Amino acid sequence: ITTVRLILGDQLNAQHSWYKSQDHSLLYVIAEIKEEASYVRHHIQKVCAFFAAMQHFATALKSAGHNVLHLTLDDTADCKDMAALVAQICEQCCATAFEYQQPDEQRLHQLLSQCLLACEKHCYSTEHFLLEPEEFDSYITPAKHNRMEAFYRKMRKRFNILMREGKPEGGEWNYDSENRASLTKSDLSAIPEPLCFANDVGSALARIKYHNIATIGVAQENLLWPVNRRQANELLDYFCDYCLPLFGRFQDAMTSQSPHQWSLYHSRISFALNTKMITPRLVIVRALAAYNRGDSDISLAQVEGFVRQILGWREYIRAVYWQNLNTYHRQNILAAKRGLPQYFWTGKTKMRCMAHAIGQSLDTAYAHHIQRLMITGNFCLLAGISPDQVDEWYLGIYIDALEWVELPNTRGMSQWADGGWVATKPYCSSGNYINKMSDYCKGCHYDVKKKVGDGACPFNSLYWSFINRHVQQFSRIPRMTMVYSNWKKKDKSEQQAVLAQAANYLDNIESL
Ligand code: FAD
Repeated sequence: ITTVRLILGDQLNAQHSWYKSQDHSLLYVIAEIKEEASYVRHHIQKVCAFFAAMQHFATALKSAGHNVLHLTLDDTADCKDMAALVAQICEQCCATAFEYQQPDEQRLHQLLSQCLLACEKHCYSTEHFLLEPEEFDSYITPAKHNRMEAFYRKMRKRFNILMREGKPEGGEWNYDSENRASLTKSDLSAIPEPLCFANDVGSALARIKYHNIATIGVAQENLLWPVNRRQANELLDYFCDYCLPLFGRFQDAMTSQSPHQWSLYHSRISFALNTKMITPRLVIVRALAAYNRGDSDISLAQVEGFVRQILGWREYIRAVYWQNLNTYHRQNILAAKRGLPQYFWTGKTKMRCMAHAIGQSLDTAYAHHIQRLMITGNFCLLAGISPDQVDEWYLGIYIDALEWVELPNTRGMSQWADGGWVATKPYCSSGNYINKMSDYCKGCHYDVKKKVGDGACPFNSLYWSFINRHVQQFSRIPRMTMVYSNWKKKDKSEQQAVLAQAANYLDNIESL
């Protein structure tokens, strides 16, 4: 062995040029490390999914004829962190070179770029994303707002996706007005049953327990998440066949009245994508192929809505993260400092929307975008929860949570702690929006129509108290003008009653 090559748990890209040919002087290392499984308290399904996916990848590489060292927690129990393990292996092999792929997270980027080794060190592209880090400067300016829409149009042109002779297909860049409907009663029975796998993760569960790794959420012996490329492809095909035709239309809808309420028309491919089992290019190509098929029932509005997520949001968020690397995690422009209520860890709250979104997250390690943004995120924003605690929760609980994508989404888009680098205006709403987009309010302990008094929906008074509290930051934002003029229109006594209600709810936040 002359060269040790490290593969991180989120670098399971079988099509990487590293694997084009076999070379017996190379040793590929894939390792479970306690530090990686516990730098935040992760969902148990997330840890299992990573361990299982790493195991599958190691086995696939071995059967393709590569030298692979797959280490489990049992083998690495004495290792402080990834850098210590690398140093140890390089020394044992008398390696002359250590090679790794560019980590997506700053934490590992620092650890690997700064680790001191006796041998040479080389860093490679992960060959996963559409944009390379060298290109970020020409797309995203640090510490200021960069419009996702402008970024997305540039990407559409650059990669020639949904373009006809230099113009957007269909004449418009954006078909949002045709999307984002709520579900009516008759829509409920048509929601497709989600494709779930049943991967045996018994041995990973036993290791997690044996090595005392603290986790959250409900464990599953038979993991529903994809853990190899074949399953990731199946999930993508399933999405294109059954969910894409109505993806955009019901993208923001929420319900509690379907056995498939947690999955709806979403792809649930974020874990497969973020671990790089599949590439964003492949996802886009498959979605476009499904749209272009002769018998396709997928409209342009639906496919455009989906392409926007992958080509637009996902690449944009990554570039924003890397362009603001050393500052993002300290941003707290609204000076939010309240502790995260206990029910985020149990789902036990009388707010039905929150109980659903949190309960589902604990059960499946998944919530779709609007649940993350407009239920739990909205609540934290309105209640002024410390972004450090909000980040920690989001980074731990979701199957797809890795800092590069979690941080700008949570601290930026959802909590506005960056002062608007990601979002032009805060994503906040009263109970009214939740009632419009979901059926959560029916049967709730609280009354969504009430702002004050017994049983008034907490989202209502918290919303107005948030608006009132941050008048300095938000009243200058053009898209908030209407909100402030509505607030000013209320007479003083009504304003006071609403603010008193909010103060009371915040004082008793644990019992909401
Ligand atoms: P779909 O709804 O089917 O969308 C398809 C794909 O588009 C997703 O798989 C994802 O790769 C991409 N995408 C869509 N929106 C975004 C976005 N805003 N940023 C990046 N990619 C996007 N996504 C993560 O992958 N990891 C996270 O840790 C994460 N944390 C989030 C935290 C908050 C507070 C919010 C509001 C959003 C977060 N997102 C995160 C973005 C988004 O909610 C998830 O990507 C999505 O819910 C994953 O489910 P899906 O695969 O079914 O997505």
